[in-house]
Amino acid sequence: MLAPPLQRLVTELAKLPGVGNRTAQRLAFHVLRESDEDALALAQAIRDVKEKITLCEVCFNLAEGPRCVICLDERRDTSVICVVEEPGDVLPIERTHEFRGRYHVLGGALSPIDGVEPEDLRLVQLYGRVEGSDVREVVLATNQTTTGEATALHIAGELHARTPDVAVTRLASGLPVGGDLEYADEVTLGRAFSGRRVV
Ligand SMILES: [Zn+2]
Repeated sequence: MLAPPLQRLVTELAKLPGVGNRTAQRLAFHVLRESDEDALALAQAIRDVKEKITLCEVCFNLAEGPRCVICLDERRDTSVICVVEEPGDVLPIERTHEFRGRYHVLGGALSPIDGVEPEDLRLVQLYGRVEGSDVREVVLATNQTTTGEATALHIAGELHARTPDVAVTRLASGLPVGGDLEYADEVTLGRAFSGRRVV
């Protein structure tokens, strides 16, 4: 029923998570009513994230350029590394203001059933950052899911063997069971962070 260009926009918007066909139509009509300037700013922003966002060469967080803003920040504590599964997990931890160290983004969690083995994650790079450095603590902030727990256990074992002097900690429980960090509220996550325990 819709003019083909409008239908194409509806189809693309409906692919976004949480956006059904009806919402996609509403958004598409909204874009159509917007000024050229606003609508093109949206298009340009989408283009920019695809063209300009890369992964930090140190921690694999999202970056514009070779290093992310956190690795570039001289005031961050280099002696603590917080290990997370995805780049999207960095933001909720930053919002708690409980952590002033640096991150390491694994790019997923171990899941043999899905074919995700240790070599598929950025584990070698993590061990490389810890070995022979001033790092004294590694916080394992993988999700409190079966795969997240298995990943934390695997990394803790490797770190204990490779760098016995480095403390390995895990966030305190209290986060929603089976929940992703992404969905934890700031207060709960902040508490889990300050109450982290040695594993
Ligand atoms: Zn970085």
